[in-house]
Amino acid sequence: MTAFDSRHVPAYRFDLVVLGGGVGGAFAALRAAEQGLSVAVLTKAAAREGNTRYAQGGVAAVLGEEDSFESHLADTLSVGCGLCEREVVEGIVRGAPEAVERLLAMGTAFDRTSAGDWQRSREGGHSFPRVIHAHGDSTGREIQRALCEALAAADGVTCFPDVFALDLLSTDSGRVTGVLAETGRGEFAAFCSSRVLLATGGAGQVYRETTNPPVATGDGVAMAARAGATLRDLEFVQFHPTCLYIAGAGRALISEIVRGHGGLLVDRNGNRFMSDAHPDAELAPRDVVSRAVFRRMVETGDTSVYLDLSQVDGDPQHLFPGISRVCSVFGMDIARDPIPVRPGAHYFIGGVLTDGHGRTSLPGLWAVGECASTGLHGANRVGSNSLLECLVMGLRAGTAIAEEVPQALSAAAFAGGEKRRDTGSDSVLDINIEDLTYSLKSMMWRQMGVERDAAGMGEALEKIAFWMRVVEDLAEPERRSWALLNMLTVARLATLSALDRDESRGVHYRVDRPATRAEACHTLIRPKLEGQQVTRAEVSRPLAGASPSYAIHES
Ligand SMILES: Cc1cc2nc3c(=O)[nH]c(=O)nc-3n(C[C@H](O)[C@H](O)[C@H](O)COP(=O)(O)OP(=O)(O)OC[C@H]3O[C@@H](n4cnc5c(N)ncnc54)[C@H](O)[C@@H]3O)c2cc1C
Repeated sequence: MTAFDSRHVPAYRFDLVVLGGGVGGAFAALRAAEQGLSVAVLTKAAAREGNTRYAQGGVAAVLGEEDSFESHLADTLSVGCGLCEREVVEGIVRGAPEAVERLLAMGTAFDRTSAGDWQRSREGGHSFPRVIHAHGDSTGREIQRALCEALAAADGVTCFPDVFALDLLSTDSGRVTGVLAETGRGEFAAFCSSRVLLATGGAGQVYRETTNPPVATGDGVAMAARAGATLRDLEFVQFHPTCLYIAGAGRALISEIVRGHGGLLVDRNGNRFMSDAHPDAELAPRDVVSRAVFRRMVETGDTSVYLDLSQVDGDPQHLFPGISRVCSVFGMDIARDPIPVRPGAHYFIGGVLTDGHGRTSLPGLWAVGECASTGLHGANRVGSNSLLECLVMGLRAGTAIAEEVPQALSAAAFAGGEKRRDTGSDSVLDINIEDLTYSLKSMMWRQMGVERDAAGMGEALEKIAFWMRVVEDLAEPERRSWALLNMLTVARLATLSALDRDESRGVHYRVDRPATRAEACHTLIRPKLEGQQVTRAEVSRPLAGASPSYAIHES
């Protein structure tokens, strides 16, 4: 993404370089260090900041005789709409007890009953109450706290907060050999290793409305795309139906629990609409509620719908103190005033294609967590399966990486430091990065949001291509521009994938293709090397408006 001169960039060598300190990266780093590897963990903000910290509901885990792995497997496959990889799902649900055991050993305080049993909740899509949680709805905060302490105490792990990874370094043959990063002091540094793990989390920031924190800009997926890794199913973005929508307030997630207690969704005229949309009304699956909310906003010309808590069981202020606190700052009493809500981008299901141990298509590159596509979620995600995936896959990747014979890194591994592009410095134009970022986020919400169609996505692709050229050619080489380029890259590839999927399935809903095709196919994206023979599979579904440098095909 930027010009650099290797002669002036310090190089640090580790057995493993992990990008990301959320639950996926931290679990892998700790496991690899246990087996004697020296591990660098880079995080672009404070070590604790990422999607993990905001997880509310908990971790889905089969932990007792009453529940069964078969039931968790069946629930996950059913929600995934034909695109889950059965073996992967089975391995991950069966990995839960060991993963939870490790979290407990690190001091994670999960909630227990007075008799010492697990406190478990049931979430949409699960046929059994199997979601364990900590401090009520602060599960992610508690897990991230325990992980940060474990990372700080672990022999062999060095954490580098406030270090922004820009791009993977690789040899001409495509083997990944490290990462180019910018430190908090604004200097470049190279972290060299024959094993690099991406654990950079989600990309919710690509959308104007999102539950994700500012770090979730899809950097790992964009980096992997630039390096030539295969990506899968980027069109599947899960929207959470009820995010707080008050100008000036963060888009806090208002969990299903509120609707579970009797909170009702109404429009600006006070009319309920969910009972017409689904037999389970307010408790229908997330994608159904998101679409119904979106439709009602369009029909009433309003910017939100409303959660009416006047009929909940009990005192709303006591039941939902966090939401009550935020709303009261804006002069609302949640027992009386309906809360404005709308859908927000919540979880990126697609990502860098990996095998069951986190290996990507590029030698030396691994991926776990939200930036990876293992095949667990298929076309829709069951609540609380993602933390589980991060834990189990983090452990597996950490183990497999340590078993892999390290490749010798010659000086040549880091020799490609000639200037790739001169950026910005001589530009006569001032590029307003905030404005461009906001334009992208608004456009993605409108044209690649809860509902999509070919015309909107085609237009989106044109705008994205134009903005990419502007940023690449004119923006100053700095973090905001790099993050925006990553967001544009993810937006573009997700839109290409969504355009290519000429059906509706799971969280991907096309108003111009509402039916689901009989056969379920993944969307794969990979850079096409110059002069490469294109196979029949790759050209079987030519893409309108696709960049010629990518091949998209089904598998
Ligand atoms: C509000 C909310 C509620 C949720 N609730 C639940 C729940 O109840 N149960 C559940 O299972 N899931 C839940 N999820 C989803 C789940 O939290 C995430 O999928 C999971 O935590 C992702 O973990 P991760 O390790 O992949 O990434 P993250 O925890 O997001 O960590 C990403 C890391 O990558 C680093 N990073 C990113 N880019 C760079 C870069 N360029 N250079 C250096 N470092 C970089 C960041 O600094 C950060 O350390 C929720 C998500 C949100 C947002």
